[in-house]
Amino acid sequence: MRILSGTYGFDILSIFLLLISLFLNFGRIPRLISLVLSAIVIFRAFSKNIYKRSQELNKFTSAVNNILRKFNKQLPYMTNVSLELIPPMFTRLKYDINQKIKYKIVSCPNCGQKLRLPRRKGKIIVTCKRCHNEFNLRT
Ligand SMILES: [Zn+2]
Repeated sequence: MRILSGTYGFDILSIFLLLISLFLNFGRIPRLISLVLSAIVIFRAFSKNIYKRSQELNKFTSAVNNILRKFNKQLPYMTNVSLELIPPMFTRLKYDINQKIKYKIVSCPNCGQKLRLPRRKGKIIVTCKRCHNEFNLRT
């Protein structure tokens, strides 16, 4: 990780953006937003304008604290988040992407139960695990 020396690295704001972008990946919201957020995280990590990035972090921390104060809580002020946190996040991301490639999530037309089906199996008959309704599907 010597490549990151002299650059800003990751802070809690980056982690937050990364989590949002991961979350958006599973919603129906266009992927573009998620991609843009990831791009911001990468840009911030490699940025050498440490002053400006710290200011962004300050703004973010105080905005979050304004909300947290209502619950008598406070965000710890953390500049660089340990890089050891990053690899597990990517492992998780890789796992999620793999799942998305391998499986297709569909809703049962009868009861709305979400079902996970293997992709690229051609025409299959699906039996809903909740209501036992059967329906044809192309995966
Ligand atoms: Zn069903």
